[in-house]
Amino acid sequence: MQKHVDLAGKRGLVVGVANVHSIAAGCARAFCGAGAEVAITYRSDTSKPFIQPVVDELSVPLFLPCEVREPGQLETVFEAIDKTWGRLDFLLHSIAFAPREDLHTSVVNSSAEGFALAMDISCHSFLRMAKLSRPLMAEGGSLMTVSYFGADRVVEDYNLMGPVKAALEASVRYAAADLAKDNIRVFALSAGPIKTRAASGIAHFDELIDRVRERTPSHQLVSIEEVGRIAAFLASEAASPMSGSVIYADNSFHLMA
Ligand code: NAD
Repeated sequence: MQKHVDLAGKRGLVVGVANVHSIAAGCARAFCGAGAEVAITYRSDTSKPFIQPVVDELSVPLFLPCEVREPGQLETVFEAIDKTWGRLDFLLHSIAFAPREDLHTSVVNSSAEGFALAMDISCHSFLRMAKLSRPLMAEGGSLMTVSYFGADRVVEDYNLMGPVKAALEASVRYAAADLAKDNIRVFALSAGPIKTRAASGIAHFDELIDRVRERTPSHQLVSIEEVGRIAAFLASEAASPMSGSVIYADNSFHLMA
């Protein structure tokens, strides 16, 4: 693979690979292609076989269970990283969840429980990961999460995930300010729509893809490889003056009126 950035000697944690089509899989490939070593997590034993091809392809040394709702599991992941590497240079949080019945209705109909669950898994888990990363990033580091344009504007059928992603992007800004003294940079990568397992949970996703392709100036959709290359750049020292920003990987769709 052509090297766009240099991550030689860097070690990162990638949370959110569900299969080879995941945004996190594209990012993991880009991190390793740039010379980094990564740890990858799996949510459950049933998801493991779908992630194994990515783990094998990238010769991943740490393949660990991580259901962020399971008490203690995230802590165990960071303990394993500390034991194996003694440090962490970057983290990619690429997970989201909302109960189907809350996602497939107007945001005003969403239940308090469904809203809280979506916020916990899709937003607060990033802050928990940031907290656990901090002691391992004594020499600085980069924390990244994946967002969507539905945080900025009302996107049909995105419903509950809109306010959740808005909270995630605001969390990125606050965490960036808090962690600047530790030389830890924090980013939200706002990706254009990509056909993944999570995306299939959004109603009429194929129509959304068609609308976005039509209104994007280049009429091109983004790929997980392209998002991955931006993530690799954000993980690298080349991005050192940047922090707290939402970086759009959407072929400029967000600029269009
Ligand atoms: P995906 O289905 O490949 O990945 C979603 C991941 O979230 C899975 O690995 C799943 O196991 C994980 N996850 C969900 N609940 C979890 C929990 N409780 N504990 C641990 N892991 C959990 O889909 P994706 O599209 O690659 O999604 C990755 C991120 O990208 C999400 O935050 C999503 O909102 C965001 N995003 C996706 C798109 C898109 O169009 N696909 C666009 C912009 C942003």
